[in-house]
Amino acid sequence: MNVLVTGGAGYIGSHTVKMLKETGKNVIAYDNLTKGHREAVKCDVFVKGDIFDDELLINTIKKYNIDSVVHFAAYSLVGESMEKPCLYYHNNVQGTLNLLDVMLRCNVKKLVFSSTAAVYGEPEAVPITEDFMKNPTNVYGRTKLIMENVMKDYSNAYGLKYTALRYFNACGADEEGNIGEDHSPETHLIPIVLQACLGIREGIKIFGDDYPTEDGTCIRDYIHVNDLARAHILALEGMHEGHASNAYNLGVGNGFSVKEIVKAAEKVTGITINKETVQRRSGDPAILIASSDKIRGSLGWEPKYVDIKAIISTAWNWHKNHPNGFGE
Ligand code: UDP
Repeated sequence: MNVLVTGGAGYIGSHTVKMLKETGKNVIAYDNLTKGHREAVKCDVFVKGDIFDDELLINTIKKYNIDSVVHFAAYSLVGESMEKPCLYYHNNVQGTLNLLDVMLRCNVKKLVFSSTAAVYGEPEAVPITEDFMKNPTNVYGRTKLIMENVMKDYSNAYGLKYTALRYFNACGADEEGNIGEDHSPETHLIPIVLQACLGIREGIKIFGDDYPTEDGTCIRDYIHVNDLARAHILALEGMHEGHASNAYNLGVGNGFSVKEIVKAAEKVTGITINKETVQRRSGDPAILIASSDKIRGSLGWEPKYVDIKAIISTAWNWHKNHPNGFGE
């Protein structure tokens, strides 16, 4: 299997690249490095390039005889997507359309696509199954839903085979300790809490404690990045074995509130941090918890990390040893 990984230098992309290589696939990481880190790429071939660069994409696909693509390259911040929708529609929709166009021109018809729990919006119940109504509350979720619909149409019309993986909250780091989460600026809860533990931040802000949950803070389903990575490999192998196009949720099936995450991180690190409750963040649904029964049944996926403290420990190991991320 010769796999092109767009966004291969990003957080989930780099963990997937590493695991693809470990499972014996030929991996070509492709990234424009606007968000990703060259040091995060742990495979032999890296191409610095953009998903809008048709010529480079075509040359790369031909040179390495690519038969499948895993597409991570996208913007993924809910708050930013509300402030800069143009950026998100351009990169996530137009960019993916461009990639699909190139793939079809090169007769590459297998794609694993990074989707998100944000396609559901405020769910009518939890756990969320794949057939729930899709009603995104933010631009980021809308860009991913648009592309899921496009892929469905391309699958019917052009024989594209795709697997959309709807991630819940990715977190944690590879246990070998040389790759992990490093966003600039960082907006995600667990790295922010751990940076506060390290003294890099004065404390954390809790975005709203008036949600209809037990402690009033938002509940999310936190899934370890390597459990996500493994799902991409299973999805690729499934498509090569003849599985049809499909969309799957990826979460552990347990929900933790913001306050519970902070408490768990304080236990893992032994450090108490300053917390301040502020206004809600726009576009945040109250509770998102996945049912991952479908991918468990179809692809035999299951999470190796189910204990939140164990997940946070892997992130802590990364942040402690790389307080400046890949910058050190
Ligand atoms: N959150 C928070 N303070 C922060 C960052 C996040 O209270 O500094 C909350 C956020 O409102 C959400 C949860 O933590 O309810 C997870 O947010 P994150 O940005 O990590 O992931 P998202 O759910 O947006 O994918």
